[in-house]
Amino acid sequence: MTRAIVGPEIERLIQLLARVPGLGPRSARRAALALMKRKEALMEPLGRAITEAAAAVSICPVCGNVDTQSPCSICRDPTRDASLLVVVEDVGDLWALERANATKGRYHVLGGVLSPLDGIGPDDLNLGNIVGRVRGEDGSVAEVILAMNATVEGQTTAHYITDQLAGTGARVSRLAHGVPVGGELDYLDDGTLAAAMKSRTPF
Ligand SMILES: [Zn+2]
Repeated sequence: MTRAIVGPEIERLIQLLARVPGLGPRSARRAALALMKRKEALMEPLGRAITEAAAAVSICPVCGNVDTQSPCSICRDPTRDASLLVVVEDVGDLWALERANATKGRYHVLGGVLSPLDGIGPDDLNLGNIVGRVRGEDGSVAEVILAMNATVEGQTTAHYITDQLAGTGARVSRLAHGVPVGGELDYLDDGTLAAAMKSRTPF
């Protein structure tokens, strides 16, 4: 906005909202307006929720997850299968696997992927303690599942971790690449179809 049509407080609110992933300047303006119209019902509780969450949130020192408990809720959960370690790129991937109820294992959150072009190397990721976790004091991790995205960077990272874990004795697996559930072959891109053929499983 070149000419101020709102006060600086609202201007700042809109600027900050616009930096939230999924929102742009237009959505930020709409959100700010909706908040102001519902001051008591939405704006004030949201403000308090953000303040409280910001005060409590931390990165889990064990797995790299984000939570308001440390260690995180998943690392504390005694019903989790400690023999299974699922490696993901980001917390959003962990949440997706949890929503799908896909595993009862524990997680290791990398906080990104290796990307030499962007200058992101092993030291920039949460990789320092992964071998230690897999070895463990009791050597309890039997399988490591590399649940990386099916991107070049994701697969490069998976190969790197596989190399690091050689000699730990843990079995290393990765997610299948291929035909999505409910998917039709005719609609798949060539890369997906080729990957599905390559990673076919016995029927
Ligand atoms: Zn944790």
